[in-house]
Amino acid sequence: MRQFNVVVLGAGGVGKSALTVRFIRDVFVETYDPTIEEEYRRTVSVDGQLSSLEVLDTAGAEHFTSLNEVYIKSGRGFVLVFSLTQEASLREVDNLRQQIYRIKGGDTNVPIVVVGTKLDLVNEREVQRNTIQSLASRWDLPFYETSAKRNWHVNDVFEDLLRQMRLRYPTD
Ligand code: GDP
Ligand code: MG
Repeated sequence: MRQFNVVVLGAGGVGKSALTVRFIRDVFVETYDPTIEEEYRRTVSVDGQLSSLEVLDTAGAEHFTSLNEVYIKSGRGFVLVFSLTQEASLREVDNLRQQIYRIKGGDTNVPIVVVGTKLDLVNEREVQRNTIQSLASRWDLPFYETSAKRNWHVNDVFEDLLRQMRLRYPTD
């Protein structure tokens, strides 16, 4: 079985842990220690093929730390998370995106998915769909609007990333 490692990055409080834990354990964790950084593993079947995903839920990615650089160097796929309820969290996605391309030596085929979380918080929404749509098309990256709480489109994120990783890394 092929194995891929994925790094989940984004500003604090956007819902990285909730998204990761929903995908791995299919539960919603209401409160999660923001400083906890943990690696999870799950086997997934996509397009009739089993793969093992190792998912690193990072913490404190607000600044460009050397730790962040280590994660980006070793990561094969990236989930860049912002909150649909916090417009400012989009900026961190743009920063991380640029860091990834820089660290990967200008490789423009790095598997990346952009994820807006907290889709269920309709009344607190700050980022409109056309905003993220035009950004994502400028960045040439797929994006998903999700809710870890309601389990909306969480699996889609990781399936998309897995397909990208299989294409980008056809053999080991
Ligand atoms: P992290 O710092 O990026 O890991 O963010 P967390 O996963 O710890 O989430 C921060 C807060 O947002 C917590 O209170 C979560 O319960 C809440 N949260 C995360 N995802 C969702 C979601 O999809 N819907 C709602 N309503 N709340 C969410
Ligand atoms: Mg967290």
